[in-house]
Amino acid sequence: MKKNQQFITEITGTGSQGEGVARIENMAVFVPYALLGETVKVHIVKVLKNYAYGKLVEVIKPSPNRTEPKCSVFYKCGGCNMQHADYRYELQFKTNHVSDCLKRIGGIDTEVLPCIPSPETEHYRNKGQFAVTKDGIGFYSQRSHNLVDSNSCLIQKEICSEIIGIIREYMKTNNVPPYDEETHTGKIRNIFIRQLSGGTMVCITVTDKNLPNLTDLTKELVTLGAASVMLNINNKRTNVQLGEQFIPLYGDETLTDTIGDIEFKVSPNSFYQINSKQTEQLYKYAVSLAGLTGNETVFDLYCGIGTIGLFASKYAKKVIGVEIVEKAVENARNNALANGITNAQFLCGKAEDVIKDIGKADVVMLDPPRKGCDDKLLKTVKEIAPKTIVYISCNPATLARDLKTLNGYGYCIDTVQPFDMFPRTFHVECVVKLQR
Ligand code: SAH
Repeated sequence: MKKNQQFITEITGTGSQGEGVARIENMAVFVPYALLGETVKVHIVKVLKNYAYGKLVEVIKPSPNRTEPKCSVFYKCGGCNMQHADYRYELQFKTNHVSDCLKRIGGIDTEVLPCIPSPETEHYRNKGQFAVTKDGIGFYSQRSHNLVDSNSCLIQKEICSEIIGIIREYMKTNNVPPYDEETHTGKIRNIFIRQLSGGTMVCITVTDKNLPNLTDLTKELVTLGAASVMLNINNKRTNVQLGEQFIPLYGDETLTDTIGDIEFKVSPNSFYQINSKQTEQLYKYAVSLAGLTGNETVFDLYCGIGTIGLFASKYAKKVIGVEIVEKAVENARNNALANGITNAQFLCGKAEDVIKDIGKADVVMLDPPRKGCDDKLLKTVKEIAPKTIVYISCNPATLARDLKTLNGYGYCIDTVQPFDMFPRTFHVECVVKLQR
């Protein structure tokens, strides 16, 4: 196979990012935007040793699941990946993807329950982080730093477009330049918007705090409905979006969200699930899998602002949460206080270090970031020997790797339940129950 060759072929599989996979001349060819079962014309763009990448030139026989994307920048922007397929296809892809990862990476052949749909599939994201560059305001296209300028987004809250409109106008009127990562000059780098049941927060990341007419800008944002407006200072040469210093311009530094009957306060640099409605279903399910009777000690590792642990606290004797971000731990402690929860305690540090010194648990809940659990942590969990582990994962590949390790430590998989937390993207959340 050579670059620039074209083939007419059938799509017989899917890749981890929802792309179609064809088998041509004994090579797997990954074809973005092609759907399972379709006959397509592919242009080969890159050939590696065992696989290749192709560009979709023409759909010759379309899948019955193919749809017209609703967003005009879908094929350019890297934010969504699944708008060219109907929601049924997307859910089936997510279920299959979890199952494939467990088999391929974990060597685990087990039943994977059908992915639970999200209550909302559009405008569900409670957090948006928009890049500001000389090319405009929006998201980067996939695996690049090319900005796709856009005024509206199908999965962000509707208010984001209006906020961005106000900031665009402000920059133009006041001659405020966007940040340029090549020359490390300019003022505005990012716009962070979070909308929870308690209101909307706008946090503008800038290189320094001396911007003209901030009072007018704040007034406009508040008139639009912002409950909190902040500047965040980041003058480092880095891809990290938020700097450490926050300067409040209006309102509180935390936002409140109500999930079930618990109120959570969230700081801008604390992790918080981005799909609030689906999160409620996810937490309820995860806690129900733990099989709590009121007598258990539960560890909530990677606890963020304490959400899962606080949900579980009603049904357990004691909860200990561990989290690395100090602000999030502070949020978790205040959230326990504010909700009158007295049997939950939160510790700050690396879960893999802290866990050695906090005694035994009957149930361990794990909710790590995409890179999964540290090996050291899994070893310590083995020594603690909880009866039940509930693992909540946002990355099926690292989940499969960690489940294989836990299998080796004598834990069997009881239930695997994917949840669609991120409709229209290839990302999938998954809850797994393991029993010793
Ligand atoms: N359970 C929470 C947060 C899950 S996200 C919720 O559902 O909202 C993963 C969390 O792990 C983040 O808050 C992140 O800051 C934290 N984290 C990352 N590495 C960690 C580590 N080594 N030890 C403890 N916490 C860590």
